[in-house]
Amino acid sequence: MKILAIGRNYAEHIKELNNERPDEPVIFTKPDTALLKSGRPFFYPDYSNDIHHEIELVLRICKVGKNIDVKFAHKYYDHIGLGIDFTARDLQQKAKEKGLPWAIAKGFDGSAPISEFLPISKFGDLNNINFSLKVDGELKQQGNTGFMLFNFDYMVSYLSKFFTLKKGDLIFTGTPKGVGPIRVGQKLEGYIEDEKLLEIAIK
Ligand code: MG
Repeated sequence: MKILAIGRNYAEHIKELNNERPDEPVIFTKPDTALLKSGRPFFYPDYSNDIHHEIELVLRICKVGKNIDVKFAHKYYDHIGLGIDFTARDLQQKAKEKGLPWAIAKGFDGSAPISEFLPISKFGDLNNINFSLKVDGELKQQGNTGFMLFNFDYMVSYLSKFFTLKKGDLIFTGTPKGVGPIRVGQKLEGYIEDEKLLEIAIK
């Protein structure tokens, strides 16, 4: 399986990092060794001093697809979960300044905690899903899919031009504003609507 991710998909988050608003989705990938199941601890690595949380909704692909038309894209994902796109902001900043890839800053071990996935039938309007992140009980990030620049169907269609999508692939769909550094000893909890789906202790 592979993990594909979209950056800069929420306008308020683009502003907080002083990034340009993209005309096309900004895409990066994470290896499967980035996955971390909810409930497992995240061990803070020694190569970064500025790892940020980015809470995101994650789509799970349910069948093989290539060059998928936007109007059929909804047939290619059937579950939604929560993920955190852990980002080594210090390493990413260096890479950005030099125009170098983000592979390490976004793809290091444990950089993709994920929750259990919920069937899409549990959701009403996919363009109106609320999700949030609490750090030590304090609300830090809150998003609604209605504010995405590129919606789920567009993303699936767009990605399938370049990457053949396969069953089990995951798509991280972008983070809302409120990203910030994590510290050893903290507890991160992720919610879709009022349901807690994700819990990660930072060790
Ligand atoms: Mg992200």
